[in-house]
Amino acid sequence: MKTYRIALVPGDGIGKEVVPAGQQVLKVLAQSEGEFAFEFENFEWGGDFYRHHGTMMPADGLDALRNKDAILFGSAGDPDIPDHITLWGLRLKICQGLDQYANVRPTRILPGIDAPLKRCRAEDLDWVIVRENTEGEYSGAGGRVHQGFPIEVATDLSVMTRAGAERIQRYAFRLAQSRPRRRLTVVTKSNAQRHAMVMWDEIAQEVARDFPDVQWDKEMVDAMTARMVNKPVTLDTIVATNLHADILSDLAAALAGSLGIGPTANINPERKYPSMFEPIHGSAFDIMGKGIANPVGTFWTVVMMLEHLGEPDAARRVMRAIEHVTANPKLHTRDLGGTANTADVTEAVCMEIAATAKRPLATA
Ligand code: ATP
Repeated sequence: MKTYRIALVPGDGIGKEVVPAGQQVLKVLAQSEGEFAFEFENFEWGGDFYRHHGTMMPADGLDALRNKDAILFGSAGDPDIPDHITLWGLRLKICQGLDQYANVRPTRILPGIDAPLKRCRAEDLDWVIVRENTEGEYSGAGGRVHQGFPIEVATDLSVMTRAGAERIQRYAFRLAQSRPRRRLTVVTKSNAQRHAMVMWDEIAQEVARDFPDVQWDKEMVDAMTARMVNKPVTLDTIVATNLHADILSDLAAALAGSLGIGPTANINPERKYPSMFEPIHGSAFDIMGKGIANPVGTFWTVVMMLEHLGEPDAARRVMRAIEHVTANPKLHTRDLGGTANTADVTEAVCMEIAATAKRPLATA
């Protein structure tokens, strides 16, 4: 029987609540499928680790992850530690260190979810945003000199390489080709940024030649926000630079009804290193420890992880269980206007998985 080695990195805040919920779903799934197993290793990195050791994760932390099949990540963020330290010290360190250059975010309006676009039918909004995850505006290049003096200078240099732009666009074209509508929108800002973004557009045109069956277009990032709201049905797969996609994907999450629902995958497409799967929300300290975090984003994350591991049937079964649960307003958490808590939703999803199992769930 195949055993998948999964690293669990709950991180901070509600990450510590939703990652165990995701693990519970995976355990019930493995028991009920009976065709594969999971071997979990928990890594307690993040804000608490920083308070003790001065870093968000150990210097050799990446080595401990390299031999895993996948990483299930919670969130990084701490009210007492600057955001750029928590982000660069953990999440970005893993993404860049394991060359997870494709950040993939599907967005759909799940059954039972009251989304803000009143004229948009649920089937009109079915997107996947592909975000360049290693360079661009978040390359980390830049610096500060003469700190505190009137002549202080600070720069954040956006760095785009031909190799980086080409590999992410190729990934996006391939993904678009695998989806029923075979449609890709390349987001740009080449009207105002006349070097890197112009190269980005040229590369899109070059890569497009290898995908004659994909219908593609180009959209300026500012116009894209309006198009997402006004004409959601005209979009399917979307590719954008690191910063542009960061912003657009939060808009997408809001249009789908809640930040607590969406998943994301940080993929190393060549599978040289493990990929990392996480809900899109952050550490949400305002609700931490109350047991009310919505675990649906993590469950959908688990679906993406199963697809990546090559278990599409199991992935479908978990997704169906999630949709069965979101369709019931009594199982909505507070962010969706309901009163259910994390444990209620987790239990309901686990029960649905067990109920639809290929074979009966083994009793403990
Ligand atoms: P970070 O700084 O780590 O990104 P944040 O608290 O600024 O975290 P998010 O965690 O992304 O930002 O979310 C913003 C708000 O949305 C939270 O304060 C919380 O109230 C709500 N929220 C986010 N995720 C969830 C969830 N899974 N369940 C319920 N509410 C959520």
